[in-house]
Order: sequence, then C-alpha cells, then structure tokens
Amino acid sequence: MGLRFHNTLTRSVEPFVPLRAGEVGLYTCGPTVYDYAHIGNFRTYLWEDLLRRHLELRGCKVTQVMNLTDVDDKTIAGALRTGRPLDDYTKTYIDAFFEDLDALGIQRAALYPRATRHVPEMNAMMERLQRKGHLYESKGSIYFRIDTFPAYGRLSGLDPDSAAAGQARIDADEYDKDNPRDFAVWKMRKGEEPFWESPFGAGRPGWHLECSAMSIKYLGETFDIHTGGVDNIFPHHENEIAQSEAATGQPFVRTWMHAAHLIVDGEKMSKSKGNFHTLRDLMAKGYRPRPIRYLLLSAHYRKQLNFTFEGLSQAEASLCRLDDLADRLGRTPLGEGRSDLSDRAERTRGEMLEGLDSDLNTAAALGPLFDLVRDAHTALDAGTARAADAVAVREALALFERVFGIRLGPDACLDADIEALIERRQQARASRDWAAADAIRRELAERGIVLEDTPQGVRWKRKGA
Ligand SMILES: [Zn+2]
Repeated sequence: MGLRFHNTLTRSVEPFVPLRAGEVGLYTCGPTVYDYAHIGNFRTYLWEDLLRRHLELRGCKVTQVMNLTDVDDKTIAGALRTGRPLDDYTKTYIDAFFEDLDALGIQRAALYPRATRHVPEMNAMMERLQRKGHLYESKGSIYFRIDTFPAYGRLSGLDPDSAAAGQARIDADEYDKDNPRDFAVWKMRKGEEPFWESPFGAGRPGWHLECSAMSIKYLGETFDIHTGGVDNIFPHHENEIAQSEAATGQPFVRTWMHAAHLIVDGEKMSKSKGNFHTLRDLMAKGYRPRPIRYLLLSAHYRKQLNFTFEGLSQAEASLCRLDDLADRLGRTPLGEGRSDLSDRAERTRGEMLEGLDSDLNTAAALGPLFDLVRDAHTALDAGTARAADAVAVREALALFERVFGIRLGPDACLDADIEALIERRQQARASRDWAAADAIRRELAERGIVLEDTPQGVRWKRKGA
C-alpha cells in the first residue's frame, strides 16, 4: 500500500507522496541550547531518525535540516547568569547535544542552522511581511497581526479566541500587543541582552521566525515534512505557518508530523519530582545508550510513552534476545534446504515493513519480529532449521538493524549488559519488587546466564561455559 503518515494538518493518515519523486525535504525543530537535552526530547529526535531511516529504506533521498535555537529568553538568561558571552554559553550545550546524538546513534542532519547566524534572512522575511501589511510596531518590538491571516488555527484546530490561545501572550516582552493573539517576530533591544542591528531597529528575533526563515532558505517555500513534539503544534508551528504563508503566498509544509509526550513512572517529567532524566544522568547510572534508543523507539510515536527503569531493563533483555539469535544463526551448522521457517521469516519481514509504512508503527513491526525470534530459537533447539531458514531470519533481523539503527550480534550484547541487568535485579530486590526481579532472572536464564549468590555478592556465568 505504500507509505502513509499521519498529517496533523488534516488529522488523518494519508498516503505520503514527496513533492519531487524520490526526494524528501525534512525540517525537524531542534533544541534550545541552554541546558542538556532530556529523554523526552530524545524520544522525538530518535523518532525523527527512524522516520529518515525508513524513508531512505523506501528509496528516498532525504535532506534533513534541524535548527539550533541559540538565542531566546532562556539562553540569554543563562549567559547573563554565568557572565559568559552568549556564543560561549550555548557552545557548551551545542557540543553536548552532538555528543548525545552520537551516543544514541542518531544520524547527523544535512544542516544544523543556528538562529544567530540567520538574522539577515529573518529580516528579509520581515520586510516581505511588512510590505504585505502583516506587521506592526509597538514600543520598539515588531508583531505579526494574526487578523491578517485568516487560516490561523488550522493546524492546531484551536479557536484563536480561546483561553489557550490567550495563554500564548504570557511573555514579559509582549505587553504592548494590539491583540493578545499576536506574536513577536522581532524583540526590541533590552538592557544588557545581546542584540543585532536591523532595519527594524536593534533587537533580536522571535523564536518562531527562525524556523520559518531557515526552513525556507534550505528546503524551499514549500517542502515535504515538518516535525516536532506535540507541544510545538501551538503556538510554534501555527505561527510558523502564518509567517511563512503570509510572506510567500505558497503552502508552507505538506505533511506535519508530531510525536506524543514521554512521561516517567506515569507522571509528567519535572525536576521537582526527581523524575527528570537527561541522557547523561542515565549513562552515569550505568545504562547504555543502545537499550535507551530501543525503549524510546519501541512504542508508536503518536502514543504517549511511559519511561520506567523496569522498561529499560526489559529493553536490554529484548535486545540481548535478538543478539543471541543472531549469534546462534551464525555459529550453528545447518543442513541444506529450507523448512517452514523460511516462509515464516519472509512473512514477518513483510509485516514489519507494513507496520513501518503504516505511520511508522514500530510496535506493529516489533510484535511479529519477536514471534519469529521465539520460533527460530525453537527450530534451532529442535534441529529442524535449515541453511535457507537462517538466511531468511537474518534478513528480518537486518531490517530491524537498518530501520531501528541498532546493531545486533554476539559482541553487541556485552558482559556489561549482563552486569547491568544483574544490577537492576539487585535494585528490584532491594526495593522488594519481586515481579521485576523475577522477570530479569527469567530473561537472564533464557539467555543462558546462570546466577550464583555468594557471600561476595552475585556471580554469573554462561551455561556450558
Ligand atoms: Zn521550530
């Protein structure tokens, strides 16, 4: 049936057809570089990475552009607080962001344009908007007049007069608007804040304007896909559409895609609740990026994902089960020919592709894969697997590796993974979570790991080793 994606603009799953055959322009809203990114951010960035890998698997050449918001209220506050120049302050978090991307195996975008390096492009867009009567000045700042763009609210489905829309005006800089729904495109220079000279006076750009100006510069006035988290839909993406379409007179983005929230232990992540995790926090606790990547990709992106440490242990165990199969297929001598398992594996591969084609439903792709993994282990145990079966099963595993961006194999599941699982089991026992402890013991047993309690702590060995 081909690729189908959910388009926030039409609220439906639609066939995806790129503007130019075989080429996809993809704009993914990037981080505001005032702090380390958290796992909720990475859920979105990982899903975008999977989107790109799947488009590439389906033969598209993808040009991905991700902005870095390196000037806004938060970056400026951080720079002023630490007494560092803005560029110096944001460099710390830009460098950290790229380190985190690499740790998680996220492919680099073609371009990472920075807001502070695109002020002339933003001013040019403002001049276009001004000529067409969409802007007004108030106390030195420049605002977009929403009444001049009748399609406003189409993406979010939000009544522009609603209370939620009114919320958007809570911004100390914006008390002088004609209409609370209007938003700033250029903020007047204030106090010691960094500023840029422009035909509109000294100041700095509004957040929404950077994404409009930079996406159009690198991907054209109309491009294929724009993504972000659901929290970007309003006001950020709504405002991007208003500015872009008002300036160019062209449709801005054909398909808008948004990832649902990540919650932790059933609650919204927040620093005050102690359930706020950056990638660095998790790695410092001994978790490895591979299971984090897997866990964050394993649920369909439009469903809320509940992150728990138990889920992370299960993710490690699931990956190790795939590793074990890849390992067994590589070293078990098999007779000539094929059995039912070959057909089974080919069918599974088809089901995985169908799940991914269908709005990147990763959960629908993983279910059949793990059924196949179980059956393949059974066939290997029973001695009924044949050489052609191994090839067919390996192809299903290779599809997983390619789209999920996770390498499998005997050396991928290291002693460190096993030790991490044992440590998780100890923690579960210490907190009297017997169900979790048992689940981990079973996972380890399935992987041929034998545990032995000794006065010095838990020891482990591989069965038969
Ligand atoms: Zn953006």
